[in-house]
Amino acid sequence: MPRLCQPCTACCDGWLQITVDDQPVYPGRPCPHSTGHSCRIFERRPEDPCRQFVCAWLSPHSHLPEDFRPDLARAIVLADVRRWQGQAVDVAVPVGRRIPGKTLAWLKDYSRLHGRPLIYLEQADKQMKYSREQGVQAFGPPAFQAEMLARLKSGTKLW
Ligand code: SF4
Ligand code: SF4
Repeated sequence: MPRLCQPCTACCDGWLQITVDDQPVYPGRPCPHSTGHSCRIFERRPEDPCRQFVCAWLSPHSHLPEDFRPDLARAIVLADVRRWQGQAVDVAVPVGRRIPGKTLAWLKDYSRLHGRPLIYLEQADKQMKYSREQGVQAFGPPAFQAEMLARLKSGTKLW
């Protein structure tokens, strides 16, 4: 059975930084069309990004388990935005301030077992309101971590 989004709206609710009808959506600023469990304009939602975007959990060939739906696992995983030495990289974005320990542990175990590099984000400050600038961590082969660190220092985009 193909997986279905609803009632997940994690990518609509600002956890993923997107632009919808020229309106920026980012942590603390959800899409105005999201009810938090559905889309008010589902039948006429924009092509880009709404109809085109597929997170790694929703992908037909997902490597993520059933209970990794982003609203449940509290992380949106992107599996097709970055490759490193021919290998797909998982990019995990928190649904909230931080990716829960259980979810992050699973992603790290998968990375170790399959040699699949991982980049994950977290809100840097626990006290302040949500920020568009998020802390970035790289996990996986030492050479991958070193390259990501060098990119961070030089201001080069990681994905
Ligand atoms: S985060 Fe994934 S499962 Fe959730 S609404 Fe977006 S595409 Fe669907
Ligand atoms: S328009 Fe609908 S599908 Fe698109 S981001 Fe907003 S709530 Fe989500």
